Amino acid sequence: MDKMTLDPHYDDDCIFCKILKGDIPSYTVYEDNVVKAFLDISQGTPGHTLVIPKTHVADIFAYDTDLAAAVFSRIPKIARAVKAANPDITGMNIVNNNGEVAYQSVFHSHFHLVPRYTDHDDFK
Ligand code: ADP
Repeated sequence: MDKMTLDPHYDDDCIFCKILKGDIPSYTVYEDNVVKAFLDISQGTPGHTLVIPKTHVADIFAYDTDLAAAVFSRIPKIARAVKAANPDITGMNIVNNNGEVAYQSVFHSHFHLVPRYTDHDDFK
């Protein structure tokens, strides 16, 4: 675990900043000094998890290199933890939308971890 210390900046209008501040609830999957991972509210796919930096970063274009390295380096470990939670998870999509034209709807950078199940209907 790196020792990166964040000086968090929050955007008062950002729903994910409100989650970070504890102003609205979330189901935490993992949390450390740099990231928080929590269940996506939609759960269209069971276990769908979001990983966010613990400071307001709008999108991929706004990261500095150190924060990017710290956030990205945590994703494999969180992906393994999500996969380990259910033996039926046999794969995973990791998706990051940037900008309205790319279907980003929450403008606090986040990585979707979408588990895939061998027996899931859309696999057939
Ligand atoms: P899209 O809505 O097209 O997936 P994003 O990539 O910006 O766009 O994803 C935002 C995600 O945030 C959505 O999957 C949505 O279900 C999720 N979401 C919105 N509000 C909450 C919330 N309060 N708690 C957890 N997840 C949320």
